[in-house]
Amino acid sequence: MTDTPAPACRLCGTPGPAGPGAAAMAGWVTERDARGRETWLCPDCARRHARDIEARLDAEWW
Ligand SMILES: [Zn+2]
Repeated sequence: MTDTPAPACRLCGTPGPAGPGAAAMAGWVTERDARGRETWLCPDCARRHARDIEARLDAEWW
């Protein structure tokens, strides 16, 4: 099954560009949560939470 949902920011819900490749090139950041699910952050949220991402804090903490 290749049911890949369009990326959407998990913090603000902004829908991302179609396709993971397009999103990455547009400045979106992909992460894997503790369950191994791929999640996305829009450029604004990625920048805002850059410290948290670098510290690898759990998403629950935000
Ligand atoms: Zn966002």
